[in-house]
Amino acid sequence: MSNTTEATPSGNDYRHTLNLPKTTFDMKANLTQREPKMLAHWNEHKLYERLRHEPHPKGRWVLHDGPPYANGDIHLGHLINKVLKDIVIKYRTMQGYDAPFVLGWDCHGLPIESAVQKDLGPKMRHLPISEVRHKCRDYAQKYVKLQSESFQRLGVFGDFEHPYLTIDPLYEAGILDVLANLRQRDLVYRQRKPVHWCTSDQTALAEAELEYADRKDLSVYVKFALRFTADTWPKAWGAAPASAHLVIWTTTPWTLPANRAVAINPQHNYVCLRSSTNRDVLVVAAERAGHIATLTEPAQYAPSDPISGAAWLEHKPQYEHPLDPGRIQPVVAADYVTLDDGTGLVHTAPGHGTEDWQTGRRYGLDVYCPVLPDGRYDDSVPMFLHGQTIWQANAVVAEHLKEKGLLLFSQEFNHSYPHCWRCRKPVIFRATEQWFVRASGQSSLLQNARKFVDSVEWIPAWGKNRISGMLDTRPDWCISRQRTWGVPIPAFFDTEGNILFSTKSIRQVAEFVRRHGADAWYTHTPQAILSAETWEDQAITPDGEVLPHHRFNTQDLRKGGDILDVWFESGASHHAVLEGTHPQLGYPANMYLEGSDQHRGWFQASLLEAAGYRQEPPFKQVLTHGFVVDGQGRKMSKSLGNDIKVSDALRDFGADVLRLWVSSIDYQHDIPCSKDLLTRLGESYRKIRNTIRYLLGNLYDFDPAQHACAPEPHSVDTWMLGELSDLYAGVHDAYDRYEFHRVFRLLHDFCNVNVSAIYAKAIKDRLYCELPNAPRRRASQTVCHAILSQLVQLIAPILAFTADETWQAMRQLPGQATTTAASIHEQPFLPAPPAIAEELRAPWQLFMPLIDGALKQLDTLKRSDGLGNPLDAEVVVVIAKGHPLSEQMKFYGPEIEDVLGVGYHRFEHGDLWALQIHDVRNKYASCARSWKRRPDVGSDRQYPDLSARDAAVMRQLGAGQP
Ligand SMILES: [Zn+2]
Repeated sequence: MSNTTEATPSGNDYRHTLNLPKTTFDMKANLTQREPKMLAHWNEHKLYERLRHEPHPKGRWVLHDGPPYANGDIHLGHLINKVLKDIVIKYRTMQGYDAPFVLGWDCHGLPIESAVQKDLGPKMRHLPISEVRHKCRDYAQKYVKLQSESFQRLGVFGDFEHPYLTIDPLYEAGILDVLANLRQRDLVYRQRKPVHWCTSDQTALAEAELEYADRKDLSVYVKFALRFTADTWPKAWGAAPASAHLVIWTTTPWTLPANRAVAINPQHNYVCLRSSTNRDVLVVAAERAGHIATLTEPAQYAPSDPISGAAWLEHKPQYEHPLDPGRIQPVVAADYVTLDDGTGLVHTAPGHGTEDWQTGRRYGLDVYCPVLPDGRYDDSVPMFLHGQTIWQANAVVAEHLKEKGLLLFSQEFNHSYPHCWRCRKPVIFRATEQWFVRASGQSSLLQNARKFVDSVEWIPAWGKNRISGMLDTRPDWCISRQRTWGVPIPAFFDTEGNILFSTKSIRQVAEFVRRHGADAWYTHTPQAILSAETWEDQAITPDGEVLPHHRFNTQDLRKGGDILDVWFESGASHHAVLEGTHPQLGYPANMYLEGSDQHRGWFQASLLEAAGYRQEPPFKQVLTHGFVVDGQGRKMSKSLGNDIKVSDALRDFGADVLRLWVSSIDYQHDIPCSKDLLTRLGESYRKIRNTIRYLLGNLYDFDPAQHACAPEPHSVDTWMLGELSDLYAGVHDAYDRYEFHRVFRLLHDFCNVNVSAIYAKAIKDRLYCELPNAPRRRASQTVCHAILSQLVQLIAPILAFTADETWQAMRQLPGQATTTAASIHEQPFLPAPPAIAEELRAPWQLFMPLIDGALKQLDTLKRSDGLGNPLDAEVVVVIAKGHPLSEQMKFYGPEIEDVLGVGYHRFEHGDLWALQIHDVRNKYASCARSWKRRPDVGSDRQYPDLSARDAAVMRQLGAGQP
């Protein structure tokens, strides 16, 4: 085709006789201006509501939104999560499902309470709880609104008018319904035991609220003086010495005041080590003796014969408390004592460790915890520790032991240590009275949860092992928090310490909260909440006994001050939302889709809460994605200066480019993001956009009802239809498997290679130069229309805005407006394009590699001979002798000519198939209309500057033929 700015070869101007493309679809995307207008248009026409009311031949398909924290602006992690959800939902909608999307927000909890506390400062202490809660609510609602607007701007479809909020009284009551159900099955109990405790936020924390980070601590080997007589000294260890010490190892010297036992493993062997230079005798596990000897002075230690732990325990060994020598304590058995590190003898403080606590229960040890909520010791510890914080105490304790000659060895030690998710400070184990859900070991709840795990589809599949492993090792779930901003644990205490916390009383409070909201717990009396003078029910005594019948006087009751773990709140959404605030969604959901940290968080909380009282898991599929990192794979952070704000990215690139970025990456792994990467995605976006524009531009005079015609079987159009049918199958398969990066790759390559580089070039001559109604032209337009109709649908779940912009442009095409839906998102997927027979595709598989080679020859000619326009070249098609295709080459010849974009083709016969390119500038004249150089240019007397085809077209145009 001629470059229209140049003069034609003959000086005659035929440009007005060509069918040049026309479209109003801009080359320039201008997404930042265009997208908000599209959003306004969607809202004005109530697109989301219309989608709900259209027929849904496939039924309902619900993706249940995991609630983000209503705290701060959205970041790239939120963006990825919501865009992935939206791609799934838009795809399911176009498949013919009713896929409503109700967004949720987590509005209670420590992050918001801490932020409000920071705002209020010291005056918070003087405010009534109800006022603090009021401020927390305002804070949460402000961020719900902000985040909601950001999600809408990203093109996410959902019921933004009616989100679910965990501060909605209906939701709050739903949480208590779940709690009552668990209580009914005896799955909730109260106990004094060590829990993860943040001394800064002064509350218990659950496993899901911990973050592990390296921390430097003091590692100490401490000697505990063994109490023995000649009779209790094991014979295997030789003659009884004057004194002997047990050696224990700990990285938390601050827990030594709370020591109540030393645990050994009955299966291991123990020896005493005698020094050659002093009278020190140390007792350690036989396998650890070599290690212990290296820690001490050059003194040589000789081990005695070993004795098994079991045999030693028969002597009932005892020792003196290292900080309180008057206190005599036992050596006990515990099978968790290993020989991997330490000494084989384990310091046991039942108030400060889960295993210690379990051992303590077995041996009736005191659950002693001298640490106050703020991390300071109470006055029950030795004088020298009074009022110290435990963090100060590590060094003080070590120094004291050293003075007493009880410190064998100490050193700084780096280890991975749990920190509070909120304040990032190290957490401790601290024994307190807390509420627990029986969610460990052989509890019925956990057994059911394991069955659930098996029946759910985990995407990617390793999610199943991950969550199974977590369930296998998880402790009971500590659900109480000593904070203000949450749903109260509805326990009442009478003056004797008996607790009213029964299924019936919880249900009563749930009803109260449903009517008045959880705030009312803080402003109403127990009498008003229970709406009774007396209450006959089960009671839990201060010792944990259950009295089946007890008469509570509601006037004498005091409300408990604890609130529920915020994970218990969000974990109740399968009931509180799917059957509560939004019953149209229904239980269970088809899919939960969150970051892979939710195996530990929301997925697990939801699974456990449902497993407590149901036979069906809350979800059928669980999809997880990774986290955003920068272009070099580092975590994004303000301090590294590599973080990208969503608002900046939207301003610079537009939502569709960000959505394309989300789709382009295999989200199972880390998800890289950088300005460069987004710029590259912007280029990919433009290629797709230009393809759309090209297709639209060549359909301006095409009405499918009038003009559609089947392409010739040997034509490049047929080849293109084969590729389109592959694209359809590949993209739908990838969407079905949620492999959006494959969708992206297929669409990107299709636009770039199949359409732009091959097909668009091949059909240029026939589209522009043939008569408007020429069957060859109409056939190519038919194919262009098929491509565009499919492409606009296949991109729609990802490029939500651009697809609808395309759709609006398509509706301007002849004969389209009345036959199509108002928005692409309302148009169900077209059926698959008809497959193309293998015998029609095979020849192209032969030709395409030859065409590649011929294009290289054109390139060479351009560089060596300055052959700028391929139309100045011809192709010689060398037909392999006796090949079955030889007969059909008269059909394929012109197609190969057009795919190469050269002016002419001719045939030769040879041994092998080949395409040869020749410069024909000195051989043939150039047609002034099509610019093809051909032998027949000048053969027409009326149009001596045209080829025979163009002369014929001109004559027919002159005769008024369309
Ligand atoms: Zn904290």
